[in-house]
Amino acid sequence: MELKIGDAYKCPEGHKAKIVWISEDKKAIAVRCPQKHLSKVVKVADYTKPTLQHRNYPRKERKIYVENMVFLIIIKNM
Ligand SMILES: [Zn+2]
Repeated sequence: MELKIGDAYKCPEGHKAKIVWISEDKKAIAVRCPQKHLSKVVKVADYTKPTLQHRNYPRKERKIYVENMVFLIIIKNM
């Protein structure tokens, strides 16, 4: 099956994403997914360090979600 830029492809989390880049040897592709993905969890509970943010006394981990994340996918067959 030949993959083309613009084709639909599943992102690693199973959403419907779109191919935005294909390597020259066609062994790697990049897909952009419009869904939100958990990017990282930031610990914001440290009161001892000064923060540049407003004084909102964060108490727990804050999850950072990213939309339109681009995933690099290695095509394993062949
Ligand atoms: Zn996704």
